[in-house]
Amino acid sequence: MHPHELELQYPLAERLPSPAELVEVAPGIRWLRMPLPFALDHIHLWLLRDCFEGREGWTLIDCGIASDEVRGLWQQIEATALEGLPLVRIICTHMHPDHLGMAAELSARHGIGLWMTLGEYAMGRILSATLPGTDGSASIEHYRRHGLTDPDKLEQMRQRGDRHFSQLVPSVPLAYRRIHADEVITIGQGHWRIVIGRGHSPEHAALYDETRQILISGDMVLPRISTNVSVHAIEPESDPVNDYLESLQRFEACAPDTLVLPSHGRPFRGLHVRLRQLREHHEARLLDTLNACRERPMSAIDLLPVLFRRKLDLHQSGFAIGEAIAHLHALYFRDQVQRHRDADGVIRFSA
Ligand SMILES: [Zn+2]
Repeated sequence: MHPHELELQYPLAERLPSPAELVEVAPGIRWLRMPLPFALDHIHLWLLRDCFEGREGWTLIDCGIASDEVRGLWQQIEATALEGLPLVRIICTHMHPDHLGMAAELSARHGIGLWMTLGEYAMGRILSATLPGTDGSASIEHYRRHGLTDPDKLEQMRQRGDRHFSQLVPSVPLAYRRIHADEVITIGQGHWRIVIGRGHSPEHAALYDETRQILISGDMVLPRISTNVSVHAIEPESDPVNDYLESLQRFEACAPDTLVLPSHGRPFRGLHVRLRQLREHHEARLLDTLNACRERPMSAIDLLPVLFRRKLDLHQSGFAIGEAIAHLHALYFRDQVQRHRDADGVIRFSA
């Protein structure tokens, strides 16, 4: 266990749902675990007992990627684990493939709507369609500007960028129901307020039930790993670290004893401790980044060994470069470093 996890409480201890098994975490709330083919090998989904527009059934929060394995598990779950009741609506916290991938298939099969924020729905449609500016060549230009020169790596990144999102999210429902900041959505007996977060994705929706003190945190607050905050090619001037830190403040209003249901890692208590840990984590990395920029001008690629001591696979490298740029940008937008585009076309930051 990570030392910081010792400060958190895991009420279900080591319990993890087996594939296609639903575990009740609170009355009317079932926990489902779906596989992912990455170093981060799972996502957690939530099924909430609902009666929506007169129909008894389940509201599903997040869907899993569109892989044959996940498809097979869904068929098994629908046949055996839902007490003979249908899905009645889908809410996606955000558009990342592990959350949105299966939404189109599930929504078509059950004839049900997809609820998302505008920012997430629109970006999901753009990426699933691989519109110009979101393909592999756009991402490698972005990586090049930030110091990646290795031709093999660039080629791998280009190929990955061309198909990564659309393979995992081959389609998105063609219409959706928009959800808004602070909207309260009634699901069964629960009243869930939408808490918008930025930095990880454009307009991430977490759901908080104030009465029962339960937070479905999506990817905004995770117990073990820190949420990815990356600068992407489509928004090269973004400042996701500061956006994320600012968004974390919105969770301070949740009750101290809140049960947090995260998309990755086990349900936990200790939300405010975790918020503090996440702030400290990013401030420590910002300090490492600033110290490196004091020694010499740093590109994002130069910064990788400072921020990441482990070896990274291709999937992780994309995240890592995005995070390195994000930490440099956070300092830049706080006026703690300057940036220059050098003669070699690479952007470097110096203190
Ligand atoms: Zn995500």
